[in-house]
Amino acid sequence: MAKRSRSSSPDRSESPTKKTRTPESSVSFPHRKVATATAAAAVDADPPLSKLLQAVKGGVKSPKKGDAVVYWMRMSDQRISDNRALSMASEQAQADKVPLVVIFVFSPQDYIAHDRGARRIDFTIRNLACVKAALLELNIPLHTIKHQVRSTLPQAVVSFLSDLSSTSLYANIEYEVDELRRDLKICSLAKEKGIKATFVHDKCVIEPGLLHTKENKAYAVYSPYQRNWLATLQGKQDHYLHESPRPEANDAKIKDNKKFSAFFGSELPDSIPGFGLDPEDKKKMEEVWPAGEDVASQMLDRFLHTKSRSSQMGAVSPLADGAASSDKATRLLKYGEERDIATKDTTSRLSPYLACGAISARECIRATLTMQKSKKVDGGRETGIGRWVQEVAWRDFYVNILVSFPRVSMGRPYLEKYAKVVWENHQEEGAGGGGYSEDDPDPVGQGREGEMLRRWKEGKTGVPIVDAGMRCIKEMGWAHNRFRMIVAMFLTKDLMIDWRVGERYFMQNLIDGDLASNNGGWQWSASTGVDPAPYFRIFNPYSQSKKADPTGEFIRAFVPELSKLRGEELYKPPPAVADKLGYPQPIVDHYSARDRAIRRFKNPGEE
Ligand SMILES: Cc1cc2nc3c(=O)[nH]c(=O)nc-3n(C[C@H](O)[C@H](O)[C@H](O)COP(=O)(O)OP(=O)(O)OC[C@H]3O[C@@H](n4cnc5c(N)ncnc54)[C@H](O)[C@@H]3O)c2cc1C
Repeated sequence: MAKRSRSSSPDRSESPTKKTRTPESSVSFPHRKVATATAAAAVDADPPLSKLLQAVKGGVKSPKKGDAVVYWMRMSDQRISDNRALSMASEQAQADKVPLVVIFVFSPQDYIAHDRGARRIDFTIRNLACVKAALLELNIPLHTIKHQVRSTLPQAVVSFLSDLSSTSLYANIEYEVDELRRDLKICSLAKEKGIKATFVHDKCVIEPGLLHTKENKAYAVYSPYQRNWLATLQGKQDHYLHESPRPEANDAKIKDNKKFSAFFGSELPDSIPGFGLDPEDKKKMEEVWPAGEDVASQMLDRFLHTKSRSSQMGAVSPLADGAASSDKATRLLKYGEERDIATKDTTSRLSPYLACGAISARECIRATLTMQKSKKVDGGRETGIGRWVQEVAWRDFYVNILVSFPRVSMGRPYLEKYAKVVWENHQEEGAGGGGYSEDDPDPVGQGREGEMLRRWKEGKTGVPIVDAGMRCIKEMGWAHNRFRMIVAMFLTKDLMIDWRVGERYFMQNLIDGDLASNNGGWQWSASTGVDPAPYFRIFNPYSQSKKADPTGEFIRAFVPELSKLRGEELYKPPPAVADKLGYPQPIVDHYSARDRAIRRFKNPGEE
């Protein structure tokens, strides 16, 4: 078995959404995906979130009244309802009797560093268009800035405020290490200029960093975290679920004011160079994932008030006509029993909207209260509502992990002992070279991909459930959690390919790509994370198929070569049947691959 090659050039042309990635964004900005163990340990020992909170506290207290208040919208808070920083900025603007200006910064190097895909960027622009229209009704301009060099972004933002004679900046916190460091830099630059920079928690129901074990440690196991999360939430429900008011309108005269009028004219780009979607994929994404806060509310409504249906597996709008309303058997109420039947469209499909912030997590929890008799949030295992609330708590949990153990957002495994596990080479032999030095190689470099990785991405592994899951992601930029787990487990255990390679591919292709949840899901599947699947409990993809796709409908929908098969033959086509249908033989024998994975995890560093 070939080991991975040690260095690589950052060839980013691997995504199915690759179309217009340009040299500007791909070649001139090689970034390291994986930090050294020492660097990661240093960051873990002194996490940047607490530094940022300190810096905010120690910033300018009472700035001089400026000419405007600025709210900086980020990629994960694209809404005007229940948006804490926006609400606070509006309040300040009203108190100061000055206009509120909203900015959004396009930063392609950040997208490269975070493996953002064209679908996610396109979704961002589509959501921004909705935000812009809603703000316009309030005479609030949305001004976009394109900034190329990520290291100088703090200067660009602070200069913008200075030029505008604004002394107040508001934003919601982004919890990835690089973003926290960027905001720290902004705090110090802002202070020098007499600008008050306010960064607040908004993404989670319970802010990360708040909950600790009895020993005052950060949680690394979900169940006790969730118990504390629920008790804390129930204990101060009005506080945690408080809905921030929408922003107040600016005076209509702002549109005639020389200083601000140009902002109203600034157009949103159709795409960002290097992140353009090919027109066909763009059309499909618009159909399957329409943008905006109103759509997000409709998606929530669909989940709360309609029954699941099996006809919506493929890349069609989840909001298409025909969903049957119900009082007793809605997706939410049946979530406990049905959520894992991945073929029945039983889940909310809200992840893209939560990831871009078109809806707040608080709103999701508030909505559950309207569906139950008790006034307390139900987070128990006995009801559909409780089980769903637990999923939203998983989202908070993984953000909490990112904040408590920032190493995971630096490409390191949470369980450092597995850093030495021997992975198979996912690149073509002899590919790569020239990207990073031999002394400091990037273990998940992106040289020309090898056969195994390519077949996994294309959904041609010869294992039907894996192929259906991968083709589903390629087709619609989303898959049910169960399918994500199956394909991730297959990559990391059956093919023994480094989890970071899969993590990157998901980020590049998912419409809901979110570092915390994606990293959490991958490290769970790879057994390297917090509360992971133990390394010896490896999914058997054939028995998993029966659980996740009991009727076989999912496989038949996404792997049309097998559309005539039923039962066992569908889940594991006999070689002669597969040959006849033009379907590949399995690229790996599950049982020997399983032994190899257990051996390598048991003895990290050994073959
Ligand atoms: C390998 C892997 C990668 C993943 N990558 C992402 C990702 O990039 N972005 C993302 O949002 N989710 C990710 N998930 C989590 C999960 O698969 C999706 O959130 C879920 O499938 C979305 O479907 P839904 O909105 O219908 O979820 P529902 O079942 O309706 O759940 C409601 C919400 O709870 C949250 N949630 C549910 N399950 C999880 C979970 N396991 N971890 C964290 N949050 C959860 C999501 O925000 C979701 O929208 C990943 C899971 C795995 C195993």
